[in-house]
Amino acid sequence: MKDNFSLIIHGGAGSLDHLKREGNGPEIMDSVRRILEGGRHVLETGGTALDAVEYCAAELEDDPLYNAGRGSVLNEYGEVEMDAAIMDGATLNAGAIAGVTTIKNPIQLARQVLERSEHVMLIGKGAQDFAKVCGIRRMPDDYFFVDRRVRQWREAQKAGGMMLDHEDATPPKKLGTIGAVARDMDGNLAAATATGGIVNMRWGRVGDSPIIGAGVFADNETCAVSATGYGEQFQRTVLCKMISNFVYFQQKDAAAAAMAGIKYLVEKVNGLGGVIVIDRYGSCAVDHSTSGIIYGLIDKAGPGICKFTK
Ligand code: ASP
Repeated sequence: MKDNFSLIIHGGAGSLDHLKREGNGPEIMDSVRRILEGGRHVLETGGTALDAVEYCAAELEDDPLYNAGRGSVLNEYGEVEMDAAIMDGATLNAGAIAGVTTIKNPIQLARQVLERSEHVMLIGKGAQDFAKVCGIRRMPDDYFFVDRRVRQWREAQKAGGMMLDHEDATPPKKLGTIGAVARDMDGNLAAATATGGIVNMRWGRVGDSPIIGAGVFADNETCAVSATGYGEQFQRTVLCKMISNFVYFQQKDAAAAAMAGIKYLVEKVNGLGGVIVIDRYGSCAVDHSTSGIIYGLIDKAGPGICKFTK
């Protein structure tokens, strides 16, 4: 018998004060709702969890409001360099790419790594070559140069530091990146995360988003998790796998595991960020150490709920 499906998407965590200031809160909520309902359609028409998270992540990448794909932040050289990963909870197969340029939808390239390569992660030039082999769509550089990103990059360069998307030039408040987790009607879990990284990042820096276990994880026996926040803190705590371990070893549900994960992140490294989690029974949870997180969720085929904080 077919079961209910569940889906959560996120568009980054932080104080989100600037959204109120710039007045684009309603715009983001409309976008989250539209993409969430698109994901519902994938799942209710029999699509797999993997299809649903790829679909949602690609839609989020296409919307310049988020720090992924088209709206990616700029690195130290004023360029866009993107990372993405996707994981199938049924098989623990995963695909990840890091440091790619001109790829319209990095999440689709990550899916190709999962499906067509015998590897888990491809980076830089090799990943670009693989994209050619797979016929992945490319875009010219100016497709990715959104005015807001150029302004944000200039501020960061002036301040001489790196910062997260959504963040003010002053202390870190708000983080970007996108992600999706899903459980399909056959009970399979999947997770996807994609990002442009952090503003003004240097030296080929790669964050947590494409690192399996740090910024993304899915296992049908436990849960599916996608993270957003300071990548270094999620890498050092291997946070998404940590949350899966709370389910595996302590039989926690999604809410308890997400809460324990964020507590661990804060206690261990004073970490700033958020997670979305669906457990093997389809229960949904969102948790964060920032004051806000942009998300939309459908719990067991229920109504779509879109919010700025848990
Ligand atoms: N986690 C991402 C990174 O460190 C940034 C973010 O979530 O905004 O690359």
